[in-house]
Amino acid sequence: MTTTTDTKGEAKGKITQRSRDFSKWYLDVIAAADLADHAPVKGCMVIKPCGYAIWENIQKTLDGMLKATGHKNAYFPIFIPESFLKREQEHVEGFSPELAVVTHAGGKKLEENLVVRPTSETVIYASFAKWIHSWRDLPLLINQWCNVVRWEMRTRLFLRTTEFLWQEGHTAHATHEEAEAEAVRMLEVYRRFVEDYMAIPVVTGLKSETEKFAGALKTWAIEALMQDKKALQCGTSHDLGQNFAKAFGVKFLDSSGSEQYVWQTSWGVSTRLIGALIMMHGDDKGIIVPPRIAPTHIAIVPIWKNDEEKTKTVAAAHRLAKMVSNFSFIVDDRDLRPAHRYYEWEQKGVPLRAEVGPRDVENSQVVLVRRDTGEKVTVSQDEFAVRTAEILEDIQQNLYHRAQSFLEENTHDVETWDEFQEIIKHQGGFVRAEWCGLAECEAKIKEATKATVRCIPFENGTERGACVRCGKPSRHKVLFAQAY
Ligand SMILES: [Zn+2]
Repeated sequence: MTTTTDTKGEAKGKITQRSRDFSKWYLDVIAAADLADHAPVKGCMVIKPCGYAIWENIQKTLDGMLKATGHKNAYFPIFIPESFLKREQEHVEGFSPELAVVTHAGGKKLEENLVVRPTSETVIYASFAKWIHSWRDLPLLINQWCNVVRWEMRTRLFLRTTEFLWQEGHTAHATHEEAEAEAVRMLEVYRRFVEDYMAIPVVTGLKSETEKFAGALKTWAIEALMQDKKALQCGTSHDLGQNFAKAFGVKFLDSSGSEQYVWQTSWGVSTRLIGALIMMHGDDKGIIVPPRIAPTHIAIVPIWKNDEEKTKTVAAAHRLAKMVSNFSFIVDDRDLRPAHRYYEWEQKGVPLRAEVGPRDVENSQVVLVRRDTGEKVTVSQDEFAVRTAEILEDIQQNLYHRAQSFLEENTHDVETWDEFQEIIKHQGGFVRAEWCGLAECEAKIKEATKATVRCIPFENGTERGACVRCGKPSRHKVLFAQAY
């Protein structure tokens, strides 16, 4: 609960319309909601209290889900000896262009360069090699919440920043079957979290060889479609096979006493999810935060014209606040015009606003205004708590269904290459088409349309036709899109 009494917080500048310039809209919305700012170092991001509060709610809920599936949190160092990265060939090749490397420290040149972690497989598995001895130590299920650094050339607040916050899960198993099941299980945890809490519908599936994680056998992902009809990868889960186990000597004695390498997985979601939330639900007034993840659920705004009215309506606002103490609320009794205060909570994406004026006090009623639809209802103060709970739940559902309809309307089944190019160029969205599975063909599709294989969905049918571009026998039906 917060009560503001100051007169600061003047409404921010106007937000560019989405239809006019989506990229500009995105940045305007972040500024208007006071979520984040560019940092002195190019590509880095300052996450401001309003943005960090959303991240904390994401963390809190997801952390509970990770613990409920048996994972424990630990913390590993930010610095990794450069030689560690080189032990897994594909891994180092994949990450080399993005590494930040420390060469000097304490006023001296270091004997061995240290890499600022771009991801922590190597440093964590060096520990796993010490922790794991027998089959009794397995499965080992670890998660870490931390920051990572990837030196990106083109950055964008929340979506791609040089440093970002995330969680990375790392597990070790006795069999490949078990590891693969874990990777798919965690993808499902991500799907549930993103759909049920963030109200973002996703498609789940396997990444193509080209798009998989550097050093993995397989990568699965959850993919969402943003309002500008570009895809956004919201989370990934990897079957690492024994690649890292062999590089780091992560071995165990099985029940018959013979030495085996473990099978591993890793998986992560990041502050990019906040970018997804903005681009999925936001409108021309600003962001809309789904109630289950919202730092503030209700903004209670008393309205008055003179001191006498102010005393009455502010008192009523506080009485109402007490009725909804199980939600997070703010009583905004600042000496600002009502419209000004409405505007601010709209821009900050607070799902529900309660207005109480002198006449409402007299009639023992309150006006509720939904952020998602703008719809207003007058309810009696007795019903305030019940109606608030109902409407917040309805907003959560509405945001999801709205996004789900958008996803369905913008997923196109395509059979010919002409149609493929036409849709990517003029309509955007997901294009579902047969594909031969060859990297060379995938590269040509990307070159011609900027569309990539977003995933090979789990639900893939059994009948195969011809590849949409090259006409060779198809291996899968896949989802293509231009992506962030
Ligand atoms: Zn092909």
